Amino acid sequence: MLGSMYFMQEQGFFSGNGNTSSIKIEDAYFNFGAVSVLRGVSLNVEAGQSIALLGPSGCGKTTLLRSIAGLEKLDTGVITIDGNAVTSPDCFVPAEKRRVGMVFQDGALFPHLTVAENVRFGLSNSFDRDNRVKDVLEMVGLTAMANRAPDNLSGGERQRVALARALAPEPSVLLLDEPFASLDASMRVQLRTEVRQLLQDLNITSLFVTHDQGEAFVLGDEIAVMNEGRILQIDVPSTIYEQPIDPWVAQFVGEANMVSGSTDNQSVITSLGSVPLSDQLDCAAGSSVDVLLRPECLEIQSGGNWLVSSVEFYGHDSMYQLKGEEEKTLQVRSFTNPIYQTGDYVSVRYVGPPTMAYQSVNS
Ligand code: ATP
Repeated sequence: MLGSMYFMQEQGFFSGNGNTSSIKIEDAYFNFGAVSVLRGVSLNVEAGQSIALLGPSGCGKTTLLRSIAGLEKLDTGVITIDGNAVTSPDCFVPAEKRRVGMVFQDGALFPHLTVAENVRFGLSNSFDRDNRVKDVLEMVGLTAMANRAPDNLSGGERQRVALARALAPEPSVLLLDEPFASLDASMRVQLRTEVRQLLQDLNITSLFVTHDQGEAFVLGDEIAVMNEGRILQIDVPSTIYEQPIDPWVAQFVGEANMVSGSTDNQSVITSLGSVPLSDQLDCAAGSSVDVLLRPECLEIQSGGNWLVSSVEFYGHDSMYQLKGEEEKTLQVRSFTNPIYQTGDYVSVRYVGPPTMAYQSVNS
């Protein structure tokens, strides 16, 4: 599959980079009746960049994507593609004139058309349509299936057809709405890696919607974390994971232990010892805070006050669930086979890099 993608590039069958465009969204608001779906969203996607829009179900991700595609009209706000306003108080460019490709969760293929006919659909006669269909099917590794009906394809193959169909008219930006959601776990991982490689090779601007943190980390040059119609944080995946802007983001983008403590200059004093901070907190020494301790940043040793309440072995790592005094719980990830068992008592210490703390809700 990947081999064929590189081949296409070398042969110059597909040129994405000459046409790729930036997307700019400024202060977008959108309501469905009484439901406030987008509440002041601003986002820049640079030409050639891939951004993953990560957020829980119902937070407005799809609505934002549909607004960029021209399938919804914002109540207020401006959307610009390649410097040209496509949605603003003064204009609304229809979807078919935006040069935006879209891949939906279920592929949305026409069941009565073959694979090749699905890809051909929507190609204007400015293209050499037969050759274009041939090229994009080769690009996604489906040449041999050109004459099949969508019903006779696997879920992964159907999503490749949907991708080929979206890329065929050489869109200047590509929007993908949970394109792997209907696939089983292993196909999902395989396809997302391939798609990431393809979009990088084509240098096409893309915006992915997902509620899967792993997918966002793999697919996004940057991640925009969204909740309740707002974007809370935009940054590269490592910063989103290591320096989440608030406890909600911390817990949404990975497993998180939030442990209470009190500030002491560049660290927090907790029941597990002193934990170094990456940012100086804007509060007086001794203030109550909650500090973020990722499970892989904790180390356990035998003997102590923490009871091992369960052990989950995943092959590449193990996760311990611990119970402490006053109903406190901790998750600890270990990259060795399980050493401790349910019922053992252990102690815990922080061994990770400087981390984040947040003013306690109760302080
Ligand atoms: P998911 O991950 O479940 O697809 P999402 O983040 O993409 O969710 P949207 O599909 O954008 O969220 O929906 C945002 C909100 O708008 C939800 O509360 C949803 O119920 C509501 N909504 C979406 N479409 C409509 C509609 N046609 N009429 C009324 N409300 C709608």
